[in-house]
Amino acid sequence: MPELPEVETTVRGLARYLDGERLARVETRRGDLRRPFPPDLVQVLTGATVTGLSRRAKYGLIHTDRSQTMVFHLGMSGRWRIDPDELGKHDHLVLETGSSHLLALCDPRRFGSVDLVPTDGLDSWAPFAAMGPEPLGPGLTAAYLKEVLAGRSAAIKLMLLDQRIVAGLGNIYVCEALFRAGISPVRAAGKVSAAALARLVPAIKAVLAEAIEAGGSTLRDYAQPDGELGYFSKQFDVYDREGQPCVRCGAPIRRIVQGGRSTWYCAGCQK
Ligand SMILES: [Zn+2]
Repeated sequence: MPELPEVETTVRGLARYLDGERLARVETRRGDLRRPFPPDLVQVLTGATVTGLSRRAKYGLIHTDRSQTMVFHLGMSGRWRIDPDELGKHDHLVLETGSSHLLALCDPRRFGSVDLVPTDGLDSWAPFAAMGPEPLGPGLTAAYLKEVLAGRSAAIKLMLLDQRIVAGLGNIYVCEALFRAGISPVRAAGKVSAAALARLVPAIKAVLAEAIEAGGSTLRDYAQPDGELGYFSKQFDVYDREGQPCVRCGAPIRRIVQGGRSTWYCAGCQK
């Protein structure tokens, strides 16, 4: 499942082909992904010029000169294909640029989404309205976490996955950041010390930035025809490493289930 770093890398990759380009042709090849495509999607985007791309949480944003932004989510299996040799049955949306590049949104499981949102109304769009600050932005600070977590008895792991606390942090990067900061995932959020939160914030930013950098280094491949945007592999310290030795102390990494999802951590290093 694409997490924030993959979405960021995807947006940067798409920008190479889309930023400043006119959309010469827009085609939907079925009616829906997770929900129907906006009925006016093709009409609004055809002939529009892309004025910029950005990311909010795990959504990619393609801004246009028609005061509308196309907002996409990759769901479980979505990715963009660049100049595919031929279109397949999972290529559900196709954008052709004025420079004759073909960008296809491929989503076999169709858990993704595409929406058109007025550009000046993005902040109040329902999925964005209640979101917490971007983890890589200036809004995520130890003081902010101290304030929003005060008195909360839920586990810190679960609070960090709550999009209202921090936007777009997924399971992998929460596990990795808690390990790096030496914080137990089961500790009550309100009981995490100021000193620990001061370690946590840079840990969150670092694990994400490193993953984006790793993805960026594979971006070169996307310059080739038939490249794909959306996924890359990276080595993690605790994620999916149950029973393997901790990279710091050698104790076996444990796996527990919190909120229906796995958490991996080192009981020796995380207090
Ligand atoms: Zn350890």
